[in-house]
Amino acid sequence: MSADLTGPLRGHRLLHDPISAGALRRIPVGDRTLLGLSDGFLLMSRDFLGTAEAPAIGHDTLRQRYGEVRLPLGCFLLPGERPVLIDTGLGADDFRRGGRLVGGNLLPQLARQGVRPDDVSVLALSHLHGDHSGTVGDPLTGRPVFANARTFVGRGDWEHFVERELAPIPIAPHTRAALLELERRGQVTLIDGERDIAPGVRAIAAPGHTPGHTVYAVHDHGERVLVLGDAMHCPQQLDHLDWQVTFDVDPVLARQTRDRLHADLEAHGGGAVGCHFPELLLARVLTRKPGA
Ligand SMILES: [Zn+2]
Repeated sequence: MSADLTGPLRGHRLLHDPISAGALRRIPVGDRTLLGLSDGFLLMSRDFLGTAEAPAIGHDTLRQRYGEVRLPLGCFLLPGERPVLIDTGLGADDFRRGGRLVGGNLLPQLARQGVRPDDVSVLALSHLHGDHSGTVGDPLTGRPVFANARTFVGRGDWEHFVERELAPIPIAPHTRAALLELERRGQVTLIDGERDIAPGVRAIAAPGHTPGHTVYAVHDHGERVLVLGDAMHCPQQLDHLDWQVTFDVDPVLARQTRDRLHADLEAHGGGAVGCHFPELLLARVLTRKPGA
């Protein structure tokens, strides 16, 4: 496979930006290393993350540190005998030609790690929004990109996005086509509750952002890192559990899930990283739960 970039990220000013599209983070977990890679970037609008009283609080807090608030489209690779890939970014696209949500860097990033799509043994999706499922299918043919991978999706998301076509933010036709083809081949496993999906990787239901939203615990030799998907959008949310994004499918359930994840991290330690954490930085809960 060529490592050349295709799509709208070619030559883009943010292509090598370590905070967003160029983010590359090595996260030690026991004797293994989880690699955080970014498929592209998301420019955060002012009302994206906050509270009813302070809808811009997330944006304005991040702007103090980063200036222009741009987030990565995080994907996570656990190399090994059976490589595991968690999430796939947007794919080579500029969402609605708006220049605010642009992807296409995942396959080149994987190639630089010596990983071809066919090498991926397990594909784990946090949820089916387009900025996480965009590279599941080839945009031209709808064929599965990670053709050999056993693919894990939360049952609630499969029903919401694939079966019923109800979602206000629908999945792309090529993504649906690829998922249905993987299902036809018997390569799709739907997740309820908790289950191990590969050695050292456990899926944990974390609904609210979407009905079947799932987080993944990567563990080795007593250490653990939670890959949060979109359960949280920046590390500061661990201190501000009342911040929510504007498009949680079930905001009340999403808040309960954030509370549960915070309590889990407080009780068990370890780090956590969300797909849109700037720089794909790992966060930890260091203090007691604030009064939020
Ligand atoms: Zn997202």
